[in-house]
Amino acid sequence: MPRAAALGLALLTAFWGAACAPMLFADGSPKADIVIDASAPAEVRKAAAEIASYGTKTAGGEMRVRTSDEPSKLENSIRLRIEAPGAGDIQHLDGYTIRTTGKEVVITGGSARGVLYGAYDFIERVLGVRWFMPAALGEDILPQKSIPFPVLNVTWNPAFKNVYGLIWAGGPGSADWELHARAKVGLGASFGHNWSNILPATPANRAQYPLAFAEVEGRRGSSQQLCSEDPDVVRLSVEAARRAFNANPTLPVFSISPNDGAGFCEDDRCRRIDAHYGVTDGSLSDRFVNYANAVISEVRKTHPGKQLGILAYVQHTAPPKSAVPLPEYATLVAHTPWEFCHLHALDDPQCPANRSFTEYVRGWTALTRHTGIYDYYGHFFMFTPWPIVRNIRRDVPFLHSLGVESFTSETQQNWANQGINFYVAARLVADPKTDVDALLSEYYTRFYGAAAAPMRRYWERFETAMAGTLPVGDGGYAWISMFRRRLLEASAADLAEADRLARGDSREIVRQRLAFVRLGFDYTEAVVEMFEAHYRGDGVATREWSEKALDRLRKTEGSAPQAFFVALAIDQTKYLSSLLMSLDPPWVLLRP
Ligand SMILES: [Zn+2]
Ligand SMILES: [Zn+2]
Repeated sequence: MPRAAALGLALLTAFWGAACAPMLFADGSPKADIVIDASAPAEVRKAAAEIASYGTKTAGGEMRVRTSDEPSKLENSIRLRIEAPGAGDIQHLDGYTIRTTGKEVVITGGSARGVLYGAYDFIERVLGVRWFMPAALGEDILPQKSIPFPVLNVTWNPAFKNVYGLIWAGGPGSADWELHARAKVGLGASFGHNWSNILPATPANRAQYPLAFAEVEGRRGSSQQLCSEDPDVVRLSVEAARRAFNANPTLPVFSISPNDGAGFCEDDRCRRIDAHYGVTDGSLSDRFVNYANAVISEVRKTHPGKQLGILAYVQHTAPPKSAVPLPEYATLVAHTPWEFCHLHALDDPQCPANRSFTEYVRGWTALTRHTGIYDYYGHFFMFTPWPIVRNIRRDVPFLHSLGVESFTSETQQNWANQGINFYVAARLVADPKTDVDALLSEYYTRFYGAAAAPMRRYWERFETAMAGTLPVGDGGYAWISMFRRRLLEASAADLAEADRLARGDSREIVRQRLAFVRLGFDYTEAVVEMFEAHYRGDGVATREWSEKALDRLRKTEGSAPQAFFVALAIDQTKYLSSLLMSLDPPWVLLRP
């Protein structure tokens, strides 16, 4: 065929194809309706409204939401429907499929929330929207006037049966963000310390139940912990569980977990039960399994199938030596930053602390199928960057491979300094096979626009600095030694370069995001200067910089998203500065 004729045919094919290819939007006009059942529940209606709203933000026009019996002028449609999980590809209430059949895309959810999750997947996939953080600052829209009608065949079931969100204590936009990220899964089977609710250590309770409280060093009355061998404690635990399950029939688990801190019982009853199970190393797991089994044996008579939860935490992280939990026993194995290590990934063969953690998880998963993980992707004490993306990207797929049922992360809304952890973790928890290199490339490019390169350097600099603290020691707080002036100066230079490049970006939101990151940097700077003053023995400057750190935290009040969990950050910064001011000579551990 002559060249000109071939080209002409190719052009004709392209033109004809474009003219006739089904479209979602053509030059800003919607070419599809969104179809729901007349009886659709609120969450399905919300899913439809969200697709329409993000369609408008992206392409300009507004897709019509109609019920299936209303007529339409448009040939193409997006249909939303619920189908109970089980028989087909959907295996979980929160799961969904997205399938194109002819001129219809069908989003089918295992529940109304499954439909909503399918809608958010559709909005990401087809419209290109991203939610890097909560609130308007985190939302990233790719304006495009024409969008082809998509051909999709997607199935999503949650990797973990329960995920307890990835933000604590709310903050602007955070509830929406958790839904956008599909980071709330199942019935929220998370739990925490609870003895103080089952039997508060009030003077009246101490008088009424003298033997219910722990005996420590031969004395009862000083500790808030309970004696888990006391019959009243077992009875009150049963009653509290029954009350909770009656008040909330869908509640999957009730916590009978001890209080935080120490002060556990040393009386003869508890020592006898430890000896019965062959415990010689002071671990409390066997006695707590014994206690939980006593509670479960009663609760199952009235509330069969309900779980009773005890954290695997500090003095009781290791699986029991010989006590065997009943099937309703649930646990969350806590990867605490002080007992275990966040310098290394969990599967790092060089890390003894995490090797024992992994053995504990394996032990618990062999004993109960209700084993979950409680990690700390937000730091409750340090509000500086907590640079553990390099571990999170290995740990989430690894934990999934160990067969844990639920995932919880202690994650305050410290978005200015720790938000990158939450974003990467949310994507991985939703899909442990996520390509994290591609995810991060997209994150930097879209979130920081013209400032992508220095901002990647900024965040990776903290990661590298933390990994570089290894010679100081493993795990615990050794990593804090990274916060020195030379790191601060280098990251300040990154930020300055980012600001300069962002001036050339057409999007104002890029400059607003950098201003948000600077709130985090300003606080980090005050903390670094506080440490520097402490190291040189200058108490006055230590105090001055701690005051500046507090002022800078207060300045972020009301930011959207929340730059810091301000109240907690203030408390902990005060604690950190008073700790530094009380130490003489300076905190040797913190010096590189
Ligand atoms: Zn006791
Ligand atoms: Zn380690």
